[in-house]
Amino acid sequence: MSKNDVELVTIGDELLLGFTIDTNGAYIARRLAEQGIAVVRRTAVGDSKDAIVDAVREALERTGAVITTGGLGPTTDDLTRDAVAEVFSRVLRADEAHLEWMRDRWRRRFGRDMPESNRRQAMIPEGARKLDNRHGSAPGVLIDDQRGFVVLLPGVPRELRGMTEDVLVPLMRERGYGSTGEPIHSVTLRTTGIAESLLQDKLAAIVTTDSGDMPSLAYLPGVDGVDLRLTVRGAPGQSGLARVADAIRAAAGEWIYGDGDDDLAGVLLDRARGQGLTMCVAESCTGGLLGARIAAIPGSSDVFVGGVIAYANAVKVRELDVPEQLLATHGAVSEEVVRAMAIGARRKFGADIALAITGVAGPGGGTPEKPVGLVWVCAAIRDAVEPRKIQSWGDRQEIRYRATQAAMALARGMLG
Ligand code: AMP
Ligand code: MG
Repeated sequence: MSKNDVELVTIGDELLLGFTIDTNGAYIARRLAEQGIAVVRRTAVGDSKDAIVDAVREALERTGAVITTGGLGPTTDDLTRDAVAEVFSRVLRADEAHLEWMRDRWRRRFGRDMPESNRRQAMIPEGARKLDNRHGSAPGVLIDDQRGFVVLLPGVPRELRGMTEDVLVPLMRERGYGSTGEPIHSVTLRTTGIAESLLQDKLAAIVTTDSGDMPSLAYLPGVDGVDLRLTVRGAPGQSGLARVADAIRAAAGEWIYGDGDDDLAGVLLDRARGQGLTMCVAESCTGGLLGARIAAIPGSSDVFVGGVIAYANAVKVRELDVPEQLLATHGAVSEEVVRAMAIGARRKFGADIALAITGVAGPGGGTPEKPVGLVWVCAAIRDAVEPRKIQSWGDRQEIRYRATQAAMALARGMLG
């Protein structure tokens, strides 16, 4: 039994039915890997006491270190506490201090008495340790015997993430986990607007250079673009990581807009802010998605002034001064119209930058000349006006999202 290996048991019918994706498992695995702790097996079970008992018992016997998520709620389908108490042959007892805390929370938060069903959340197996949950009402639990230990964490993703930081990571360290393992170090470089295969061609020379501390490189395509994830195990690899990341930046810099979990909207806002510029949007097929992505970034208000959802042609004419003549001659999805939308928005809003989008989001409405996925984006920055045509793919939502990404990438490039 290695002191670096743990197993996860994720609990909930919704996970088995496919209604909920196991993001908790992914989060825990990633955070523990950074500490040199490996999740060696992940088991999903439904809301059945027997299934939970079996899964936890087997994991405990195999690995001696088990983390569960889910099934700590107040309702009758939340059975994790009962099942784990059974695995350890302990009785459940109400934690009076926690009950009092919950009662008080109900009075303060909701102005009423705590429902009786919430009592379940204060039940802790005898001899187990309660783990504080600052993010919700169900505490976590740590329970152990000669076979090893089990940590019970809540299923609500926000609570799970909070408790992973506050409780799980320190607890694993306290138990000596990760001290002999090799922590994983990784760097993610985010690209957009370039195909995976073209990117690989540009990076071929860098990545084949052989040396002992060479990180592995993964190409991870998604709607934002292709993320490049470099990974090494152990501290000595870190210099290689930095060296290769720099070489990639040098070879593909114009396509890279950020690292880690940077959002292009945030990157663009930072650039505009740095140059003292304001920004507005004019959106047709994206129907507000671009504005929503920009407004989602904290602090956007000092750059972003607003926008128009100019879906119908009449609105493009009335609100953005797009000449009717252009619409009649070239159609709404055209270079001429996207330019006029950007120029019109910039004038209407008195902003330095305008981003405009018009396209065929599908699934209907495509023609041989203007197929589904054809999108024109345009960035007008002061007097510089740059339209760009993209042929996107995927379903309606992906086409719309990629259009917002393309418009922002264009403006980011122009801002230098
Ligand atoms: P529970 O603690 O089982 O009552 O779950 C509370 C909420 O968290 C539910 O909406 C679940 O769908 C969600 N949830 C439970 N387990 C997971 C998981 N492994 N990944 C993501 N969400 C989850
Ligand atoms: Mg559940």
